[in-house]
This record gives sequence, structure tokens and C-alpha cells, in this order.
Amino acid sequence: MYRWVILMLLVRVANGQSVASPPELRYEFSHPQMGTVFRLVFYSRQDSVEANKTASDVFQYIDSLNAIFSDWLPESELNQLCAMAVNGREVTVSAPLFDILSKSNDFSVRSGGAFDVTIGPLTRLWRRARNLHEMPDSLRIQMAHEKVGWKLLKLDKKTKKVTMLRTGMQLDLGGIAQGWTADRCLEFLKKAGIRRALVDAGGDIAIGDAPPGEKGWAIERPDCKKGTIIHHLRNCGITTSGARYRYTELEGVRYSHIIDPRSGKPLTHQVEATVIAKNATMADAWATAASVLGKSGFVKLRLKPDIRLWLTESPF
Ligand code: AMP
Ligand code: MG
Repeated sequence: MYRWVILMLLVRVANGQSVASPPELRYEFSHPQMGTVFRLVFYSRQDSVEANKTASDVFQYIDSLNAIFSDWLPESELNQLCAMAVNGREVTVSAPLFDILSKSNDFSVRSGGAFDVTIGPLTRLWRRARNLHEMPDSLRIQMAHEKVGWKLLKLDKKTKKVTMLRTGMQLDLGGIAQGWTADRCLEFLKKAGIRRALVDAGGDIAIGDAPPGEKGWAIERPDCKKGTIIHHLRNCGITTSGARYRYTELEGVRYSHIIDPRSGKPLTHQVEATVIAKNATMADAWATAASVLGKSGFVKLRLKPDIRLWLTESPF
């Protein structure tokens, strides 16, 4: 048997066939999109030309998803839906848009409305206030608030049709789109045969199999006592979100980019939340919801233990 194996190897070498396959090489690429920078890291036996092609295919895919989800691009599918789905009119949407909206709806149900993609009229109002450095008056806040509510967005799973029950509703996927897209990119890479990969959408990270010889990808998370803690992760998602640098000051008060759908107002304290979950979509959405709910509100939801949360709250 032993002699036979040696003989086979000698025959393969004599025929010019290589015995060992090429080593797995580490590749890293980045691409700005969705208001952040997507970072792609993967290990593959591809040569650098093939790896570059793989990365540019992934980035093209991200660009096409941005054309659907953006609330900044007037012609995005999301904004067209908001323009068309008025007066109870049903609108058929693409598979990615339907999927992200139905997942968002699940997060709204499970978070008791703390996570809400119908928050658009309020994010627009507070964005405008930030740009003009002018506090919106209470009537404007109330009017925008009336157009917000996850129960006003109806999704028909059979027909993939969407209905919005109140005029002037606006959707904002900013609390979930990066995590959802990172997960899809990881799937995209898997289909191309690349499983040892990480997709980082500016802090919303989708993680595949571990790097060669490692037990996981080393990911840092902030820790109030130790500064940072390193987790070795594989096949999951992690998000660290925080408004440390993302606030607007109006009339001496600092406002976060996260809005509490119950009050219609942005949070006025700083929250740093890290969530580790089954995938990046869940991590992204729960980090936003937990920021609204605070630690005690989050604990009351009694979610499955597969969602791990670290949260610190402090004044801005
Ligand atoms: P993140 O950085 O993932 O926490 O998402 C914050 C972004 O999500 C904001 O910039 C808004 O676009 C949007 N957003 C704000 N408040 C909420 C909320 N309560 N639920 C869902 N999305 C929100
Ligand atoms: Mg989020």
C-alpha cells in the first residue's frame, strides 16, 4: 500500500502535476458605500487577479443593493415605494427589499417598536435640524411623529406587496441595511467557494469560517474597565455602535442619530452597544434597538441567550 502511494506521487510529479495545492492567501479590499466603508477580508487559493475580480463582483453587488435601499438617492427603490404606496395602494417590491422589510418588521415586533424603519419622517426632520442648526418646533415633531409606526407598514408575504397606511410615511433602513448587506456579501463569497471571510460594514460585521489555523477572527470590542476586549469569532455577526462622535448640538443639548420612536426625539445620552448574534443583520438591528431600550428594557424582552449584549450609557 505504502509503495503504491509513493509510486502514484512519482507518476503525478513526472506528469508535471503539482502535488500540493496553492496556499490560502489573505486578501483585503475596501469600498465606500452606504455612508460607510465596506471592508472585505478573506482567505483563498485564488491568485491576486482572481481575488481582485471576486472583490469587485462583491462591491458591484453592494452598489446594486444601495440603489435599492438608499433613502438619500431620490430614485432608489425605497424612495419610489414611499412615493407610490400612498392611500393604501399596494406596491410589489424586489426580493431584497421585501426581505429586509419583513426582517425589520420582525425586529419591531420583538423589540416592542424600539426598532422601527418607518422612522423616516423623524430622521429627515432631525437631519434638517442638524444642517440648519435649528431646533424643530413641537408641532413639526408631532406631525412627523404621526407618520411613524411599524404597524402602519403592511407586508403580504404571499404576493410580496407592501402597503403604507398613512400619507407621508418614509422608510429609513439605516439601522439594519449595513448588517443585512454584510450577511449577503458573506453568502456571495460562500457561493464563490470562499468560506474563511469577514465583511465589515463600518462596525456591522458578518463573520464566516475562521482563518487558517485560528479558532476565530480576532474582533475588538470596547470595554469600560479594560479599554478593549478581544473575541475570537466565527460564523456569526457582531455590531458595535455608538454615538460617541455622532451627535448634533441644538440649544445646548446633544442629540444622537438614534431616535426613540415612542417620544419622536433623538436620544440625549451616549450609548455604546455591542451585540454578538447569529448573523450581522440581527446584531445590527439589536444594537439599534438596545440603544433605544437601555439595558433594563432590553433584558425585559427575554430574548434567547444567543443574542449577547454589552451596553454602556453615559452623558454626551
Ligand atoms: P445604527 O447606527 O445601526 O444604530 O443605525 C442608526 C440609523 O438608523 C440612524 O442614522 C437612522 O437612519 C436609523 N434609526 C434611527 N433611529 C432608529 C430606530 N429607533 N429604529 C430603526 N432605525 C433607526
Ligand atoms: Mg443598527
